[in-house]
Amino acid sequence: MDLDDLKSRILAGERRALARAITLVESQKAEHRDMAAQLLEGLRGHDRQALRVGLSGTPGVGKSTFIESFGCMLTGQGLRVAVLAVDPSSARSGGSILGDKTRMERLSRDPLAFIRPSPSQSHLGGVARRTREAIDLCEAAGFDAILIETVGVGQSETVVAEMSDLFLLLLAPAGGDELQGVKRGIMEMADLILVNKADGDLKSAATRTCADYAGALRLLRKRPQDPEGYPRAMTVSALEDSGLSKAWEDMQELSDWRKTEGHFAARRAAQARYWFEAEVQEGLLARLRREPVSGAMAALAVQVENGTTTPTAAASELLERYLQISTSGAPDS
Ligand code: GDP
Repeated sequence: MDLDDLKSRILAGERRALARAITLVESQKAEHRDMAAQLLEGLRGHDRQALRVGLSGTPGVGKSTFIESFGCMLTGQGLRVAVLAVDPSSARSGGSILGDKTRMERLSRDPLAFIRPSPSQSHLGGVARRTREAIDLCEAAGFDAILIETVGVGQSETVVAEMSDLFLLLLAPAGGDELQGVKRGIMEMADLILVNKADGDLKSAATRTCADYAGALRLLRKRPQDPEGYPRAMTVSALEDSGLSKAWEDMQELSDWRKTEGHFAARRAAQARYWFEAEVQEGLLARLRREPVSGAMAALAVQVENGTTTPTAAASELLERYLQISTSGAPDS
């Protein structure tokens, strides 16, 4: 594979080259990983900046309908839109939330759009790394907006929030008047709460739900990265295309404000640091799972079980002998 050629075609915005590069970063093969690293390194330093928008919501709230309508609205304005997904369930099912292209039929045929299903058969850490690298590739390819979808399962929302400039929570109108079981931690991550399906019979329920969430957001601690009035809740209808341009206006207002105030760059810097630390931890765990370390660990575990050594001494021995990490004098060990 000619990496220089691939690089220049990505920079020229060719979707096929982008798809190939993403396949490369998704590969588990060592030689592909090396090439992917080289490619990403080679692409560093371009001055393109996409708006990275994370979007979370439980199955059925209308994520794909929203992305289709919202994405088409953006391409209608001449903007280039990429859609990626972080899908923790794909590890189990082997399928993926964007796998079914018919979910976004109009957008997937749009020459200004690029849709990439979640890589399947991988743990969340692996999916996170590949999605992050895919984001970098889409940004290098000159996309204006990158939408990163996830279902609200486990840690996936945190993962997506940590790779987005803006994080949106999509909700459905509640049946009763109680708030849906949205965890406080998720609410605190949201920049915009969009109550979808504000149309037809569901319109008044959506308006009520939106007011409830607006109230709940006002009770949260004010974040330094928010101007007055944010985070906010609003109603939309992905089906009837209503509220979408208002949502886009708000997203731009918020990101413009953060850019001016320095919060935008600071957030990306903090994210880079977060992912560096996550990679180090992931790398150490991977070393522990490989021979001869895993064998030594199993043997030491037996000795700990039968009392031949202590957990602390055995851990020190493993770290020092097999990972060359000195534990002497470390206050926490
Ligand atoms: P996802 O699982 O979150 O991706 O949800 P989908 O986009 O597949 O939508 C789930 C169902 O909700 C489908 O039957 C959609 O037609 C419907 N739906 C999505 N958006 C709206 C909307 O704005 N209004 C109404 N009434 N139904 C919607």
